[in-house]
Amino acid sequence: MSDNHVEQVIIIGSGPAGYTAALYAARADLSPLLFTGNEIGGQVAITYEVENYPGFPDGLTGPELVEKFQKQAEKFGARIQYDWVNEVDFSQHPFVVRTANGGEHRAESVIVSTGATHRKLDVPGEKEYTGFGVSYCGTCDGFFFRGKEVIVVGGGDSALEEGIFLTKFAAKVTVVHRREELRASKILQDRAFANPKIEYKWNTVVERINAAGGDGNGTPPKVVSATLRNLKTGEVEDFRTDGVFIFVGHTPNSQLFQGQLAIDEAGYVQTDRRYHASVPGVFAAGEIQDPVFRQVITSAGQGAAAAMQVEKFLGELKAHGYHHAAVEHGLAV
Ligand code: NAP
Repeated sequence: MSDNHVEQVIIIGSGPAGYTAALYAARADLSPLLFTGNEIGGQVAITYEVENYPGFPDGLTGPELVEKFQKQAEKFGARIQYDWVNEVDFSQHPFVVRTANGGEHRAESVIVSTGATHRKLDVPGEKEYTGFGVSYCGTCDGFFFRGKEVIVVGGGDSALEEGIFLTKFAAKVTVVHRREELRASKILQDRAFANPKIEYKWNTVVERINAAGGDGNGTPPKVVSATLRNLKTGEVEDFRTDGVFIFVGHTPNSQLFQGQLAIDEAGYVQTDRRYHASVPGVFAAGEIQDPVFRQVITSAGQGAAAAMQVEKFLGELKAHGYHHAAVEHGLAV
């Protein structure tokens, strides 16, 4: 592309929202350019089984679904680039998008679909032993815990889904939850309660993750226990475990847009009901702007809607210029 080339739409992020936006924008003949980021496919790409995406009554794996999303978008002309956006400038139009590979791109419109990343516990040992017994992905790391005992931290859908998955490998899975009531959906609770390999520690938090080895003589550290505190009784115990899997929610990936877009206190990009962000011509879809639903199907739907709004925006831009399009599309944040 020449330096003067202006893309009609750039999509940042390759989760269900990004790929669906790419599909819709491609079918609208906008030749979208999508930057995948480092985690291609987003969170669903590390999900073992997706059972609630309509159209697949037998379920399919997360990577299979992501591959289908990408194939379908490319079939209609979406251009997928394996690159990481590290800077945006929405203060000028056309907007500027810079990538880790040194690319500088200009675009009439942008769809932000950078999703969310797993939250951390922020306890001693968590960071140090990530990859040595601490994990945020049962699907990725479960295999290494065959016959072992592990802890799963959290009480939401992710904790139970991954906990159930981990029982394929682990001899015992202990769910450590800070309350005595799970947040997860009923169907997952029923499955987890029926699974004989899963036990529970209620009203309990992890205070520290402990490891052996890793003392500079060449042996890597290895998690051996977690220090647990019962919030009701105050009792502290050193609970033996081979692994700690952490599923305590997610934080939106909005750092890139600080100072460029309106972002709420929890870090979500603010949008109106039609997925306009605070700068006219910039749209956001999926978990980057959705603290509520966060499903593959809802993110995909939001991506489709954002692309449809882009099409409208570009129509007005071409017919009447940026100011008119901005007034039409920038009011409701
Ligand atoms: P979530 O629903 O936000 O649950 C996070 C869990 O972690 C909660 O139980 C929370 O406890 C606990 N927690 C948060 N901070 C903690 C801390 N510092 N220390 C200890 N515990 C902490 O997150 P999620 O399970 O990742 O799910 C995110 C979204 O994805 C949800 O909308 C969920 O429905 C969806 N999802 C769906 C499926 C599916 O449909 N199959 C699978 C996975 C995820 P409290 O309960 O006390 O707040």
